[in-house]
Amino acid sequence: MDQASAPAARVLTAEGASPAMAQWFALKSAHPDAILFFRMGDFFEMFFADAEAAAEALDIALTYRGEHQGTRVPMCGVPVHSHESYLARLIRRGFRVAIAEQMETPEEAKRRKAPAVRRDVVRLVTPGTVTEETLLEASRPAWLLALAPDGDRLGAAWLDLSTGAFETEALAPGDLPALLARLEPAEMLAPATLALPGAVEAGVPRDGARRLAEAYGVATLDGFGSFSAGEAAAAAMALDYVRATQKAESGRTLAHLTRPVPRGGRGVLQMDAATRRSLEILRSERGGLKDCLLAAVDRTVTAAGARLLADRLGCPLAEPGPIAARHDAVAALLADPALRARIRASLKGAPDMARALGRLALDRFAPRDLAAIRDGLGRAAAIAAALERPEGLAAIPPLLADSARALRPAEDPAPALGRALAETLPARLDDPGIVAAGYDGQLDALRRLRDDARGAIAALQLDLAQAWGVASLKVRHHQQFGYLAELPPAPAETLLRNPPPRATGDFAPIHRQTMANGVRFTCAALAALDRRLSEAAEEAARREKAIARHLRGLCLAAAPGIADAAEALAEIDLHAATAELANAGGWCRPDLTERADFCIAAGRHPVVAAALTRSRGPAFVPNDCDLSPGRRICLLTGPNMAGKSTFLRQNALLVVLAQAGLFVPAESARLGLVDRLFSRVGASDDLAGGRSTFMVEMAETAAILNLAGPRSLVVLDEVGRGTATWDGLAIAWAALEALHDRTRCRTIFATHFHELTALAGKLPEMTPATMRVREWKGEVVFLHAVGPGTAERSWGLHVAKLAGVPRAVLTRAAQVLASLEERARGLDPLSDELPLFARPAAPAPGLHPALDALAALDPDALSPREAQEALYRLKTLLDGAVPGG
Ligand code: ADP
Ligand code: MG
Repeated sequence: MDQASAPAARVLTAEGASPAMAQWFALKSAHPDAILFFRMGDFFEMFFADAEAAAEALDIALTYRGEHQGTRVPMCGVPVHSHESYLARLIRRGFRVAIAEQMETPEEAKRRKAPAVRRDVVRLVTPGTVTEETLLEASRPAWLLALAPDGDRLGAAWLDLSTGAFETEALAPGDLPALLARLEPAEMLAPATLALPGAVEAGVPRDGARRLAEAYGVATLDGFGSFSAGEAAAAAMALDYVRATQKAESGRTLAHLTRPVPRGGRGVLQMDAATRRSLEILRSERGGLKDCLLAAVDRTVTAAGARLLADRLGCPLAEPGPIAARHDAVAALLADPALRARIRASLKGAPDMARALGRLALDRFAPRDLAAIRDGLGRAAAIAAALERPEGLAAIPPLLADSARALRPAEDPAPALGRALAETLPARLDDPGIVAAGYDGQLDALRRLRDDARGAIAALQLDLAQAWGVASLKVRHHQQFGYLAELPPAPAETLLRNPPPRATGDFAPIHRQTMANGVRFTCAALAALDRRLSEAAEEAARREKAIARHLRGLCLAAAPGIADAAEALAEIDLHAATAELANAGGWCRPDLTERADFCIAAGRHPVVAAALTRSRGPAFVPNDCDLSPGRRICLLTGPNMAGKSTFLRQNALLVVLAQAGLFVPAESARLGLVDRLFSRVGASDDLAGGRSTFMVEMAETAAILNLAGPRSLVVLDEVGRGTATWDGLAIAWAALEALHDRTRCRTIFATHFHELTALAGKLPEMTPATMRVREWKGEVVFLHAVGPGTAERSWGLHVAKLAGVPRAVLTRAAQVLASLEERARGLDPLSDELPLFARPAAPAPGLHPALDALAALDPDALSPREAQEALYRLKTLLDGAVPGG
């Protein structure tokens, strides 16, 4: 989302520029931070620094054109008919683009004796305000987020111009990263004082509430809900930006934006940015859209359904009522497979009505957007009919019943659209053929005239052939000159030199163009017919456009109902998809309680399990998890690669799924509602953030200890491994004690510090668990099953072997390990009661340099080669101390 550096005009004055270039300078100075697409005929041209930046970003040729103030003018251009794909690439690279159109035809300019056609910027294209299909990701929302400081709080407002969604929230500044992680905004607006990287600078209005009320034509915002001053200011900022970029009067841009909805933090499962990242909810940790929770559970068949799913997973609820309503809807569609199949068949391929409506409202529509409304409403009616008479269900749950009602808008433009639109539609509004024959008498008459004229052209071709005595004469249409008579070179020459007697008057040949293989002529008769024809075609095109505008008007008049129907379709798609997923994967309805329950039988990790199925690898091993009162903390040990991280995340993801209103991959799940969910992975590098690994780990741990409460769920994955062993162990130890005694939240704590199990006796509500492994012929076999107790060994050498460390090194390492274990036995720092804390100085360091070096090793962080080098270093340190060394 970084904003690409704004290409400023290097040559700043327009002095000495041609009239067109003078226009360019004027428009550029009004949009210095955008690339200017300057319409010249069939091209959008770019000049100076814009051209250099665009040529580089688009990989197109940079050329030069003339000189300006003594330097050559760099330029490049893209064809108008294919400009959208270039635009898409520039927007994705973080540029903003100002589109300057020709506002009159060259003839009009000539008529008013202007030196150049008038041009104006009609739109500023930015990442957060695009509406074209090619610029949007179909299954993700495109949020424009505005932020306004408000005392010690922040007001946030975000809108999706493509669908009209508009929401606000007041938050503490510390919660901003979580909001950003949840929304993944395409573009941000903020005042400079917030110093937000990548944000477009925007001023904060002082009278936000008044301006917002004005924009929606209401006296007060009270009817919309309650907004803080910051929320109202942010919402006004977002609206101002939309208006400025769309160059539209307020009525037009607002036509399809819903009233802003204050979301508030209440009733929502709180997850911070680190938690969202580590759980890979909307994207994987590496940033990809595959291999995340959303991708693994998405069975929706419409783009709007997929967007709704993304929204729900990003913002699960924490209130039992609304969650249960969603579960009821899924359960009903699970219970009636025939109904589900019918619904899904009707939804499949249904057009994206919300975005079509957005383009219609912004007056940036194509004929297919009208068809999208027609077809979308048609599908909606079919689904409503299916829901009204379910065969396999006694009753339709309220959420589905509400949706079914919304599927039939009171005002329905579909029949009119059905009559008006042609069967196959042209791609652009400027092309003929939008309106069906028989819909409009006037248009039909114009088309007849045009078609008659076509017949007349054929007749004229015959007449001319006779009059000019050239049988091979052909009348053809030519882009630039209209209809012309084409003759081969020889008869053309005869015609010019020695015209036959009938080649006079209306038939007198007028030479237009000589080509290698022919000559083009016109004559008064041909020109008159050509004029009639093009006039009829123009008139028909005007009429068609007027009809299209009328149809747009019908859609806009019905916009609220259409938007509701589109939303209902998305909702139904989501529940049917969830039921489909539950049916295929044997997922269950979670039993949500208001106690601090947590009891899962045979739970699975939705992403890992799906990946194993896809790769036809070994089956995923389901695992139980019981964090019920009395055993709230689970301390999980086990070797690397045994499945600790998978187990931790699967239990956290089950909460996300359940509270988002989905079913869960388990045999049964009783879950006490979670208010805050924390997931942490030790030693995650935040190099981009510029903080050391350990610092990050500690800041994240501090957040948990400060914010988690008895209703929270915390999963901690090897926290403490980002520092030297003893520090890490000490911190992990103290954190566990605090979670047990003070925070009292449900916790799963995975660790490779086996010493921590010494705590089990001290903390009554902590139960040790371990990933079971089996030794088989000296090899370790990971069973991926969680069992009671503690890991006996860490199997590090076996993992090293799996990783391909050479046999000789492994043999040597086994010797070293044996003697290290021998030495350490008498010195176990944790063999008596909490000696770690009883002794002021850490006991272990300094015993032997090799021990220190070994302690400092992080096997997870080593490549096989580094592991080998480390072993050689250890060997050097131990030389003499180990038999055979
Ligand atoms: P750890 O955190 O203990 O090092 P991971 O959770 O990263 O282990 O799991 C390592 C690999 O083991 C995973 O990538 C997955 O392929 C496999 N795995 C983990 N849990 C299971 C399971 N329950 N069933 C089957 N395979 C699993
Ligand atoms: Mg792990």
